[in-house]
Amino acid sequence: MSLLLDVIKTNAVDDHPFPSLSHCINRNQKHVTCSACMDVCPKGVYDREQKTPPKWNECQSCGLCVAACPSRCIAPSPANSKRHLLLAERTGEIVLSCRRGEKQAGHVEECLALLPWEFLAYLALGGKLILNLKPCKDCPHEDCLELLEDQLYKLKCFLGEEGYAAHVQVCFDDLPNVKEEGVSRRDFFRAMAHGGQKATALVINDVAGSRVDAMIYRRMLASRVRELAKNRTEFSCTMTLPWMTDECFGCGICALLCPGGALEIGEEQAGKRPVFITPHKCTGCGVCKAVCRDGCVGEICMMKLPHMDRVLLRQVESRSCERCGRAISPGKEETLCIACRQKRRK
Ligand code: SF4
Ligand code: SF4
Ligand code: SF4
Repeated sequence: MSLLLDVIKTNAVDDHPFPSLSHCINRNQKHVTCSACMDVCPKGVYDREQKTPPKWNECQSCGLCVAACPSRCIAPSPANSKRHLLLAERTGEIVLSCRRGEKQAGHVEECLALLPWEFLAYLALGGKLILNLKPCKDCPHEDCLELLEDQLYKLKCFLGEEGYAAHVQVCFDDLPNVKEEGVSRRDFFRAMAHGGQKATALVINDVAGSRVDAMIYRRMLASRVRELAKNRTEFSCTMTLPWMTDECFGCGICALLCPGGALEIGEEQAGKRPVFITPHKCTGCGVCKAVCRDGCVGEICMMKLPHMDRVLLRQVESRSCERCGRAISPGKEETLCIACRQKRRK
């Protein structure tokens, strides 16, 4: 971590988030579309058509787009990443509050919704995370509340009910005496206070120059999980990952278009082809399921894992094209793939 801190000792770079378009869900495919960053940005910085560059002069560096991006392709601003990485050095009990609170205890952020769930999980697994949500009851920003609810929900799914209870404390203070306004807000507080009523229903998702990249929080979490897995045999986490059905023959279109580069298809050996996944790179975005021409990617589902590093997802039945070695379905009689057959015809 100290290496990261050295590198981001804020050099002269613009203090705004940095989207990496190559990892954006909308890039390279049209089956799944995303507008999370545009929807959450209070300043309208992002162009909805994605044709003109973001208006960074309007950006207030709140960081909400970083937490909202489902494919984790927006890197935090230098100031935010520096603050977060300093916080990440700490272990034990960490109290997080936002600026709206009367008593700003512990580490204070502008808004707790700007902390991605992976970062919250990283902090929680270092000891205990205490979230002071008392100010949320009076906060006029419904969008932030929704985003925070989403992050806490994903955090709970990742840690599991037991892990969440052991590592996270959500503090509402004198909540029972508070006059509440809307149903959704009451539901939110209840869900968070009493262990997540929706939890079972959910099926969900280096340093570059002088700034960190967009997957920094995921890699931090993966490294913390690795440490824990080494020391505690019982440790497990839950991630949402795709699953290949029996029809999959490893054509690789999903691996090619996966925004996070989470999937890898290995070489064919004796009629089998291995499909690997790196869970900390998979955000559960569903692009792989949407782009598979043969419908071979099943539901994106929750899987219990001992770590977040590369694992064999499954071995699929496959043959190789006689000419180029590309995968062909074992159920077909042809010995050449579509591309080689077209070339031969020409
Ligand atoms: S940091 Fe805040 S203001 Fe800037 S682009 Fe992201 S959401 Fe918009
Ligand atoms: S939130 Fe992320 S994936 Fe979605 S449009 Fe914005 S940059 Fe792309
Ligand atoms: S493996 Fe599938 S669900 Fe996971 S990031 Fe890649 S495209 Fe999205």
